[in-house]
Amino acid sequence: MNIRRVIFLGPPGSGKGTQAEKLAKRMHVPHINVGGILRKEMSQKTTVGNTIAEYMKAGNLVPEEIAVNITCSRLSDIDSSEGFILDGYPRTIYQAEALEKAGTTVDVVFLLDVSSDVIVDRMSGRRCCPECGATYHTRCHPSVMGNNCEICNVRLIQRADDNPLTVMNRLDIYHEKTAPLIDFYNERGILYRIAGEQDSESIFSGICALLKFDNP
Ligand code: AMP
Repeated sequence: MNIRRVIFLGPPGSGKGTQAEKLAKRMHVPHINVGGILRKEMSQKTTVGNTIAEYMKAGNLVPEEIAVNITCSRLSDIDSSEGFILDGYPRTIYQAEALEKAGTTVDVVFLLDVSSDVIVDRMSGRRCCPECGATYHTRCHPSVMGNNCEICNVRLIQRADDNPLTVMNRLDIYHEKTAPLIDFYNERGILYRIAGEQDSESIFSGICALLKFDNP
């Protein structure tokens, strides 16, 4: 089984980013973090960036055409037949269909299963480095540098969309708009459920076992 093109699906805060990054390194393929690309565009304060900010800060999905264009443009920069790890896209059936229409095939979709209570706890304690994007948790994974990033020594921030009210909105949107993708990919026979409440190392070992990698 030659798995090269992978999607990570799951509620916000389910650990998609962490697992996607590890797997991309392990497989030597690009990690396409759509939320990160949108945040970068937002920080550049372009017209599109300002629109993104409006939606993202409220915890809403950005308009479909922005998400589709940004992702397809990133995918066209790489040789997607060589592989990729897509993290945070698709988030709607429309986006999944856009990917298929663009001729981008997907080999496997990992669904990280995490309950809503755990999500709210994880996200309200999450802290990020505005410089390199590294993430920490005030209780489960604090930075050894206190309030600063271990890599950049820059002061960590709480993402504007990680406050409890916005998190609840993001979870509602996940259930309404993103969860239908579970059936969509199940019907295509490529969906694998992963118990996402385990520690990150165990999750990664499980993924590597499914992919039949010898060393995680
Ligand atoms: P993330 O970093 O993946 O948690 O995404 C943060 C925010 O970016 C989301 O709450 C949305 O506002 C926006 N976003 C990320 N990916 C998408 C997408 N595929 N479609 C629409 N909005 C997205």
